[in-house]
Amino acid sequence: MARTKIVATIGPGSAHPETIRRMLAAGMTVARVNFSHGDHAAHTKTVAMLREVAKTEGKILAILGDLQGPKLRLGHVKAGGMMLAPGDEIVLTPRPGQPAMIHLPHPDLIAAAMPGNRLVIGDGEVEFTVAEKRSDTLRCLVTVGGLLESRKGVNAPGVDLPISCLSEKDLIDLELICELDFDYIALSFVRTVYDIQELRDIMESKKRQIPIIAKIEKSEAIDNLLAIRDAADGLMVARGDLGIEMPPQELPLLQKRIIAACNQVGKPVITATQMLQSMVEHPRPTRAEASDVANAILDGTDAVMLSGETATGKYPVESVMMMKQIAENIEHAFPYDQWRDRRTAALLTGSVTEAIGGASCSIAEEVDAAAIASATLSGYTAQQIARFRPRIPIVAVSPSAYTQRRLALVWGVETLLVPDFTATDTMLEETARALRNSGLEAGRRVVITAGVPFRKSGHTNLIKVHTI
Ligand code: PEP
Repeated sequence: MARTKIVATIGPGSAHPETIRRMLAAGMTVARVNFSHGDHAAHTKTVAMLREVAKTEGKILAILGDLQGPKLRLGHVKAGGMMLAPGDEIVLTPRPGQPAMIHLPHPDLIAAAMPGNRLVIGDGEVEFTVAEKRSDTLRCLVTVGGLLESRKGVNAPGVDLPISCLSEKDLIDLELICELDFDYIALSFVRTVYDIQELRDIMESKKRQIPIIAKIEKSEAIDNLLAIRDAADGLMVARGDLGIEMPPQELPLLQKRIIAACNQVGKPVITATQMLQSMVEHPRPTRAEASDVANAILDGTDAVMLSGETATGKYPVESVMMMKQIAENIEHAFPYDQWRDRRTAALLTGSVTEAIGGASCSIAEEVDAAAIASATLSGYTAQQIARFRPRIPIVAVSPSAYTQRRLALVWGVETLLVPDFTATDTMLEETARALRNSGLEAGRRVVITAGVPFRKSGHTNLIKVHTI
């Protein structure tokens, strides 16, 4: 199996038990349910089916619910669309049915936009620059010409919109995410740490603790990257919107920055969008796409994500398989030694868990251990080990099926479910037994980390070289 985790978006192209079975066999570890499409009845059915197939196949599968966020869209444009050329002048109005004006049903956006701001329509097919702000309309110049069509998405890079990143629809979708017990929530449109806090407060009021993946897709999120990382449980490099909000030529370095920010603290990071885009239509990716997946892994991404490729594409199983093959290939040549050199520099924070995470990698290499096993309740220590990308396999041994699923997003961590333990001796016995049962040779050394006393998460304090 690849050590890089694979997130696949489920949609009409893949929401069938046999396809899911094959995607799981091919290496999917996280299924993404995209709340931008489909209704609650369909999502409920999909989640039940995913769980059923994973159970039958004996696979661990995390389910991630991706909230749509307050998507801005154009109103109605005349039938057949409107062809615009660079230099054309248009006027945007929040009121429908105004002759000679284009309907933009977002008064907040019209109020917040300033002369000089860019408005990007769709995937960048059309672009305006605000030339003049009138009482409640915007006069704009077309800078990129093309066909303007009804309901196209609108991005307003750099416009400070005074709206919550949770729309009314998101709040309703959140109810379903809680009801169906999703393993992760992806939050769109994040700009500041307060956006994460708002979602956390809502979850707390529901007494739920679903980890939050902040989608980095706005320029403000880049400005506040480290604070957002600290507040969230993981990040997504949401290259679709980020590539519209920011100039595309800036994306490669932004991707590296976002990934490095997560690696630095051991939080999972997903690289998303257009990774194998041509596989929506074709059974093989382009050379550039294969390189893109490989480079994201070399950057240090925990997971690579498929969107249209598996949601609506013709080759969902082949897309997952291709990702796994690229990952396995690159992992053979992964610069583990360079990552080892980073350990010492990184371990100056005074955190015991982080120190044990780094030390367990070094000890495992010194004693030629067969695995680094982390007896973990929350999975946090396993993340702190994975962060250093050891060559030696990482196995999280946990009594929690929830933790097991959550770690399906974390690079390099395999998981084994064990009975709950209360004493150190039992923990060592159970861990050794689970490792042997999983195929590890009896008599080999392993490095085991744990927190004693047990049942208290976040206080790893034990490291042992153990012969299984
Ligand atoms: C993205 O923008 O890259 C992304 C993953 O978000 P969405 O698919 O919701 O646009």
